[in-house]
Amino acid sequence: MIDIQENVPLAPYTTFEIGGPARYFATATDVEGLREALLFAKRERVPFAILGGGSNVLVHDDGFPGMVVKMSLAGMDFQGVQVEVEAGVELMDLVRACTAHGLSGLEPLAGIPGQVGGAVRGNAGAYGANIGELCRRVRVLNTATLETEERETASCGFRYRNSRFKESGGLVVVSALLELTPGKPTEIGERVETTLAKRAARNLQCERSVGSFFMNPVVSDPLLVERFEKEQQVRCRDGRVPAGWLIDRAGLRSTAVGGAAVSHQHANYLINTGGATAAEVVQLARLVKERVLSATGVELQEEVSRLGFSSTDDSRRVPDPPPLP
Ligand SMILES: Cc1cc2nc3c(=O)[nH]c(=O)nc-3n(C[C@H](O)[C@H](O)[C@H](O)COP(=O)(O)OP(=O)(O)OC[C@H]3O[C@@H](n4cnc5c(N)ncnc54)[C@H](O)[C@@H]3O)c2cc1C
Repeated sequence: MIDIQENVPLAPYTTFEIGGPARYFATATDVEGLREALLFAKRERVPFAILGGGSNVLVHDDGFPGMVVKMSLAGMDFQGVQVEVEAGVELMDLVRACTAHGLSGLEPLAGIPGQVGGAVRGNAGAYGANIGELCRRVRVLNTATLETEERETASCGFRYRNSRFKESGGLVVVSALLELTPGKPTEIGERVETTLAKRAARNLQCERSVGSFFMNPVVSDPLLVERFEKEQQVRCRDGRVPAGWLIDRAGLRSTAVGGAAVSHQHANYLINTGGATAAEVVQLARLVKERVLSATGVELQEEVSRLGFSSTDDSRRVPDPPPLP
């Protein structure tokens, strides 16, 4: 039997540290527990939501009016160059375990907060590598049938920060089978440390944020792409220009709405400087989208998942900040 709690504050479960309570809250340590929690939500006729490490989620100030299931399935099973890893394992714990087993491939992903399930759903990645490239099979719980299903890579729809599991809210990632490459633990460990050092140098790991708030858009204007490449001396990857560069061009670095601000260090990080509300974050995000569109003609899409918002909900309005000089 799983323990179902009521009115559990969600902010402490998120890296943004924002948002109200869940009406019901349960922790699933196995598939049976997950099923039980979903059945409870069905019986009570309330919506449900899955929570991983909470590092890519913005919770509404009023919280979530249904059942939030915190994923804590935590098994890892190594077989040769493959590992079957459950959704609730912290991504960094997986990186460390693969290093110890002499398995290479996850080094560029070191330091990405959150769990394996959240990473697979959003095809998390960094420094040119994405977790989907290593997945051979993903096991999901279909929330309509409450049965588990296995998806081969070809049917997972992995692409830039997206997957079939993200598009269809009805599939909960339960575990993934990853295939890695053999290597020397010391060398893999060194590459992990190099990635961690690169991330630490950006001084962003301990900000209250969700990492990059917007996806890097594909830009059709060749002049804009050329300007970015000339200015930054790097080639665009897959025609995508960093959202942070566009936000910077729109003059928004450090812009704030209440306690929510565009980070001074990285313009694609919206941060909670202390006491920010979800309404303030939403309004800041709206302002960023509007100003980037008018300054560059590019429409930004959010990477973050919203929890407790209705599809038309832009949350409560707070006053606009003063116009930029
Ligand atoms: C400082 C910082 C740096 C970051 N850097 C990066 C980076 O370099 N690259 C990158 O890709 N991301 C980055 N992120 C974003 C975030 O860490 C990733 O998106 C991460 O994979 C989210 O996993 P999570 O477990 O925290 O998901 P959560 O935030 O808990 O959930 C996000 C969404 O996934 C859903 N979800 C969670 N688990 C499951 C599951 N098992 N099955 C189905 N749906 C599920 C939730 O319902 C929610 O909609 C960063 C975040 C922070 C705070």
